[in-house]
Order: sequence, then structure tokens, then C-alpha cells
Amino acid sequence: MSDLSLMHALIALRAWSQWYYVVSMNSKYLPGCRILRVAFETALKSLQSESRKAVIRLIAYRKCLMCGADVGLGQGDHVIPISKVPYHCAENYAPLCKRCNASKGAKDLLEWWIGKGKCITELHPDALTVYLRLKFRFTPPEELHLPAPEYFKIALQQAESTLPTNLLGFWRENLKKVIYDVLRTDACSKSLPSSMLAVSHRSLYGGDGGREDDHPHLAGH
Ligand SMILES: [Zn+2]
Repeated sequence: MSDLSLMHALIALRAWSQWYYVVSMNSKYLPGCRILRVAFETALKSLQSESRKAVIRLIAYRKCLMCGADVGLGQGDHVIPISKVPYHCAENYAPLCKRCNASKGAKDLLEWWIGKGKCITELHPDALTVYLRLKFRFTPPEELHLPAPEYFKIALQQAESTLPTNLLGFWRENLKKVIYDVLRTDACSKSLPSSMLAVSHRSLYGGDGGREDDHPHLAGH
């Protein structure tokens, strides 16, 4: 996986998370590869989607993602630190207690999570969904092509270790296919990122038809 770009890692992690949360809720799906195939087919589209329901569930969760302590309404931190992206909307909200919030500092959610020695399977599924989408949306196109950071590679290894052996071959095949497809269609260097950047600009500077009004703004931080 040494040639894995951030773009590939995002797609693969999104595919895995979709598969994982289906099969962990219903073990009868485990033996087949259909769910995983669909997850890979829809991963890129999913990364481009909004996270309205996941965001609402995270706000209502009221527990610290890391330690499980009770968290007051609006208390928490940003999924992607505002030092990296000045995005104050509820979509960028991670419920965290004061202590964990302080330890997160200016790291992004996954970077901090993996750095703390935690496993990707322990991260709240909605938090992972929101994180992957924000990371995809707000990473400049040229950076999506750079090698995936170490914490992404660790997270992917952890994800891979949850796969039953009969799916491992299928997983690696799809990983190669994703790399091939992204390079072949140039999906992220031209049409996709520029449109995504346009979206992020609208979100940051307004003028998107009031979509942001659906998201209560974060207090503080
Ligand atoms: Zn905590």
C-alpha cells in the first residue's frame, strides 16, 4: 500500500466503513462480497455527499467520542481543526469532553485518534463518516494526490484486519481497481476537486442558497 494516495485511502476507508457497519449489525452478510462490492462502487459518491443525519446524531449523542464522558450541548471540538479549515458549521462538530478536547489540540480527528493508539473500529461510525467527507471536501486537489499520511495507512491496516479471510483477496483487488480507476479517469485532478472546491467555497463564504441555515453554528472554538 506504499503507493496509496490520500484520495485512494479516503475511498477505501469509506468503502470499508460502509461494509463494516452493515455486517457488524447483521452477521448473516459476512460471508458474501456483495456488500463490499457495493460499498466500493458507492464510496466516491458517498464522500461527496452531505452528512445531515450523521451530524444530527452526533449533536444528539452528548458523549465524548474518546472516553464516553457526558458532554454538554455544544461542548466539543472541530472534526477538522479550524487552523486548517475555517469551517464553523455543525457538520464540523465532534462531541468531546474538556480533557479529551485539550489532548486533541490542532490535530484532525483521525490523526488524533490513531495517534492515541485507538482502533478505527472504536470510532463512532457517524464521526468517521463526517470526518472522511470533510477531509475529502477540504483537502486541496493537489494534496489528494500526495501519499496518504501514516495515520491513514494505519487506519486502513486496522480496517483490513476486520475482514474475513475469504474477503481479503476481493478487498485488495478492489483497492488496486480504485487506484487504477482514479488514475485512469483522472476523477480527482480535474472535474471532481474543482467542483468540490466550489462547494467548499460556497459553504465558507455563503451564497449557496442558504444551505448553512440548516446547520446550527457551533458556539465557541
Ligand atoms: Zn473525553
